[in-house]
Amino acid sequence: MTEDETLYVAARVSDMPTAHVPSFKVPCSDCGEDVWISEGMEKHWSTMKIVCTACALRITSESEGPHKIDIVPENITGIIKYLRSRGIG
Ligand SMILES: [Zn+2]
Repeated sequence: MTEDETLYVAARVSDMPTAHVPSFKVPCSDCGEDVWISEGMEKHWSTMKIVCTACALRITSESEGPHKIDIVPENITGIIKYLRSRGIG
């Protein structure tokens, strides 16, 4: 990935079965797992690489930064749940 690529981190559908805001499912651009992206955030994700929480962690841990990551509030619940399931946080 390039340094100026911005990641839009989205909660996996498998981690968060119900979206809290109007959302639809798209595949993670890295692993293909379905993730939630909210309709109201189109101005963000339409210009970014959409990745799931697992890929975001892997990408940021495997390569040197800087990374620009955008985590939207409605996805934090799913991300925290994911991190706890991995014993992080
Ligand atoms: Zn992924």
